[in-house]
Amino acid sequence: MSYISESLRVLFGAAPKRPAAEEITPEAKEIHVYKKQNPFNKAEFERIYAQAAEKPSPHKWRNRRWITLILVNFLFLASFYFDVQLLEGALTASRFVGFHMADLNSALQVMLAYKYVVLNLVIGTVTIFILWLLLGGRTFCSWVCPYHLVAEWTEALHLWLAKKKIVRDHPFKRGVRSVLYIIFALLAFVTGYTVFETISPTGILSRAIIYGPGLALIWVGLLLLIEVFYSRRLWCRYVCPIGITYGVVGSISPLRVVHNLKDCHHEGDCRKVCLVPHVLSMTTKGRSPGVEQDVGADCTRCGLCVDVCPTGSLRFELKGLGKHLKN
Ligand code: SF4
Ligand code: SF4
Repeated sequence: MSYISESLRVLFGAAPKRPAAEEITPEAKEIHVYKKQNPFNKAEFERIYAQAAEKPSPHKWRNRRWITLILVNFLFLASFYFDVQLLEGALTASRFVGFHMADLNSALQVMLAYKYVVLNLVIGTVTIFILWLLLGGRTFCSWVCPYHLVAEWTEALHLWLAKKKIVRDHPFKRGVRSVLYIIFALLAFVTGYTVFETISPTGILSRAIIYGPGLALIWVGLLLLIEVFYSRRLWCRYVCPIGITYGVVGSISPLRVVHNLKDCHHEGDCRKVCLVPHVLSMTTKGRSPGVEQDVGADCTRCGLCVDVCPTGSLRFELKGLGKHLKN
């Protein structure tokens, strides 16, 4: 099965497939057999963790991402505040030095609600499509969306409380997000209102940062409370249609996280930190069909797995340019 079709299948909610014997390359098979016959021992794990602990910056990608996200959102605020017309509008629809930009999902909702094609939205959508195609699709989620950042912080609280056995995660079926995608689109078409935009914490937070806080922030606070006490990253994992839209773009994007089977210890640290661990199924022992395997389209390119991997088996890569980004 091709990378794109398998990636999209998993993005829409299906479980990742275990590769059939004939889908595994001879080189990967050889590594799987070697690892089965020579399992990693405790001392080896300890040595690798000790080596990883010496990394000069264990949160390199996370720090780069947080700085970028804060800067982008600050640029909207600064543009509005100083009236410099550099980056006007909000995340859902904006103009960057005169270029129209429209969030793909918002543009779709607006056109469904108004039932005609708005020219500026088409221009903005094409600009944004090309931008996120080059930058990796769901990169929008983890490198730009302000809700992602606050949800990441509250997720740390959820994990701490879960460790103390005060709260428990209640996971849902991932396919719920695809069903909600259709429901939000139908609601826009039938009611003539962009219903999703009203409840989207991305838009609410973006407007609050630029124009000041409003009552809608109560909804965002409620969502965060649910994520802390009931279901880990509920909104991003099971609800937000923006993730699906950009995930589809990401399936053909050249910027990917790539897994190398050779040194991987399969202990799963990467899957523990990942918002979408299903995209890392190839890191499970015996599951990778190739020595080098691209991570799926639902990946937000957040880099947390790259930071946490003690063996350096995960890295960013620009496909087609043969270029590995410096981890
Ligand atoms: S890729 Fe994942 S499972 Fe493999 S060594 Fe790195 S963190 Fe561990
Ligand atoms: S696979 Fe890695 S980069 Fe992608 S979302 Fe998961 S942790 Fe982030």
